[in-house]
Parts: sequence; structure tokens; C-alpha cells
Amino acid sequence: MRTQVVIVGGGPSGLLLGQLLHRKGIETIILERKTRDYVLGRIRAGILETGLVDMMREAGVSDRMDKECFIHHGTCISYENEMFDINFQELIGQNVIVYGQTEVTRDLYDARDACGGRTLFEVEDVEIRDAETDSPHVTFTIDGSAKRIDCDFVAGCDGFHGVSRKTIPDTVRKDYEKVFPFGWLGVLSETPPVHDELVYANSARGFALCSMRNEHLSRYYVQCDLDDDVFEWSDDRFWDELKRRLPESVADKLVTGPSIEKSIAPLRSFVCEPMRWGRLFLCGDAAHIVPPTGAKGLNTAASDVHYLFKGLVQYYQDNDTNGIDRYSERALARIWKAERFSWATTNMLHRFPDQSEFDLKMQRAEIESLHYNETAQKWFAQNYVGLPY
Ligand SMILES: Cc1cc2nc3c(=O)[nH]c(=O)nc-3n(C[C@H](O)[C@H](O)[C@H](O)COP(=O)(O)OP(=O)(O)OC[C@H]3O[C@@H](n4cnc5c(N)ncnc54)[C@H](O)[C@@H]3O)c2cc1C
Repeated sequence: MRTQVVIVGGGPSGLLLGQLLHRKGIETIILERKTRDYVLGRIRAGILETGLVDMMREAGVSDRMDKECFIHHGTCISYENEMFDINFQELIGQNVIVYGQTEVTRDLYDARDACGGRTLFEVEDVEIRDAETDSPHVTFTIDGSAKRIDCDFVAGCDGFHGVSRKTIPDTVRKDYEKVFPFGWLGVLSETPPVHDELVYANSARGFALCSMRNEHLSRYYVQCDLDDDVFEWSDDRFWDELKRRLPESVADKLVTGPSIEKSIAPLRSFVCEPMRWGRLFLCGDAAHIVPPTGAKGLNTAASDVHYLFKGLVQYYQDNDTNGIDRYSERALARIWKAERFSWATTNMLHRFPDQSEFDLKMQRAEIESLHYNETAQKWFAQNYVGLPY
């Protein structure tokens, strides 16, 4: 087989890149290790920045999103029994939308089907070869037979555990990592959200987050120990713990119900530099991870797609390599700022095992600065809605 761009990974970054390139007449083949149902069944992000929303529109996949999404003009932060609102609309005239990653992925798969784009599922043993030359190719097996695709470029959109990042030699690649000493226990329930905006709670018992997918579907999280077993967390135990971490005014309104999904995710900050090696470009979780506190995971994947898409279009339309040559530098400049925001909000809102009384006073002072200082709120708002591309 031959194509212009092989995209390894059929998650949101691979699909969005494929759709944007298709609309510019650039041919792609997507290789996905799992089944389509498996990819669509993963419950993950739900807050979309304006940049991602604009790209969904540019990719021609925004109809359902525009109809079904919820616009959030701000977000709430609580500490002890206090709660305050950071109103993005009033502070900086922007907002974010709530639309699940599952829905984004579904819309992108539907669009890819409609335009006849090729996606190969359940591929195994993917290897990216000769990426440092002008003629890279990708080998893999599917249904037990070995295949090869020759291409101009490879986009490594295969997430944190994929093969793309590992293809960059250790002598070229540098990884930066911080693993946080706790995880998030997340529950999805068919109950109405407790509040019309997200509530981020710092409490003496640990962090909690009240999020949502729609009017009937809520997503809640509590900070938990890394070695906690999800089976030790009954629904009753989860709801009880969540209520104890929220201000009374919120806890009293919480509608509980059976969980339809429950999982524990570790929290990690990670960046790989560079994000390009020859004709291989890393996008999204393949190159970086953020703790979900700042709602940046999917959104940073989207900004990579933006820079790579523009670079590839410049290459194919104008025979100009400036965009792809500067891809890694441009993408990383934005990524590090999103990493910083996610790290800072995680530090501000969680309880750490080794926190001293001084550390707790510092954390409290930081939250109060955000509560009462408009400049601090503007900085938070600008970062939360997403820095410009
Ligand atoms: C449990 C969890 C909860 C999250 N919650 C949030 C949240 O609340 N807010 C937020 O902003 N972000 C969240 N994130 C992060 C967000 O979901 C990711 O940043 C986003 O999915 C990145 O998209 P991606 O396409 O780069 O990677 P992925 O979504 O990981 O997609 C990569 C794809 O590549 C495929 N793949 C992997 N290896 C291979 C291979 N060798 N060959 C072929 N295909 C391969 C995988 O099957 C997958 O489909 C969460 C992530 C996790 C894991």
C-alpha cells in the first residue's frame, strides 16, 4: 500500500488530523490497534477549548456538537465551606464547552466513513521504519498477515503507550516526567449534574471534582491513593466520600445513583522532546500527558494537530517545509504552558502525603489569591479556556 500520511492511532488526535487533511485533498491511512467499539467506549475528557471547537468546525464535524454541547461561562472552586465562581465570560469574554471525548470521536469516525477514509482496526506489531529518511514506511500485521505502507510522513497519534515515541532513538529523545503520589477515582452516573458549572473542591479529605456530560449524565471524581483497588470503592462509599469533600450547599443538592462506569487513573505530567524525528511527528498523548485537573489532555492533543495540519498543508500546497520544520518547537511552546497550568492547579487543589503545615498555609493563600484577586482570576481564565495557537 501507499499513502501520503500514515496516522498511527485512531483516537481523537489521529482522527481529527485525518479529517482535516482529507478536506485539503491529502490522503491518509489510519492504523488502530483496538476495535472501533473499544475506542468509542473509553470515557475520558469532556471540556473543549475554543481552539478545538474551531477545528471541529474546520473539519466539518461540528453539527451535533453545536446542537448538543453545553456552553460553560465559568467554573467554581471550593475550599472548606467557601465556594467562588471564576467567570471566564466576564473576565476575558470567552468560554469553554462541555461535549464528551466519546462524542468527538464518534463524530470523527462517522465523518471518516462518509468520505471513504481508510481506517484499519485491530492492527498488531506496528513498526515505523526509515523515519529519518525521505521514504519512511510502516509495517504491521492484520488478520495474521504482514503488511507494509509506504508514505511521505508518519503521524504518531498512538497515545502514551504507543510505538511512535519509542521509535525516536534514546540518543535523540529526552523525556521529562513528574508522577503525582495519588490518583483520581472517577464515576459516571445517569444522574443530573449537581451544579450548572464544574466544581473543583480542595478539602481536608482531598480533592474532588463535579463534572458532567449532559443534563442526565454526571462525571464525579475524588482523589484516591494510587494503590486503591476500584472494587473496594462501592457506590455508597464513593458518594459518601464525595459529599464530605464538597461545601454543604453543594453536597445537599447531590443526586446519587448507580455508577455506570468507575475507574482509577494515575496523575502524571510528561513531555517528550523533540516531537519530530525526520518524517515522524508525535501528536497528543504520544508526546505529552497532563494531570486532568486543568482539563487540558484532549485540548493539547488538538493544538498539536493544528500545528501539524498547517505544516503538512504548507508542504503539499506550497512545497514549503517551514511549518513541518518548526512543528516541534511551536507545539512544545504551547504544551509547556499547558503543562504548567495543569501542574499548578493540581498543586493548588490536592492533598499531598508529605504536605507540611507551611505547605497547607501556602496552598490556602494561593486559593484565596485566586478568590479575591481579579488579575489572578484572569490568568486562570486565559489558561482554562486555552491559550491561543
Ligand atoms: C482515564 C483517562 C481519563 C481522562 N480524562 C480526561 C479529562 O477529564 N480531561 C482531559 O482533558 N483529558 C482527559 N484525559 C486525557 C485525554 O483523554 C487524552 O489526552 C486524549 O485521549 C488524547 O488523545 P490521543 O488521540 O492523543 O490519544 P488516545 O486517545 O490515547 O488515542 C491513541 C490511540 O492509539 C491507539 N494505539 C495505541 N498504540 C497503538 C499501536 N501500537 N498501533 C496502533 N494504534 C495504537 C490506541 O488504541 C488509541 O485508540 C484522560 C485520559 C485517560 C486515560
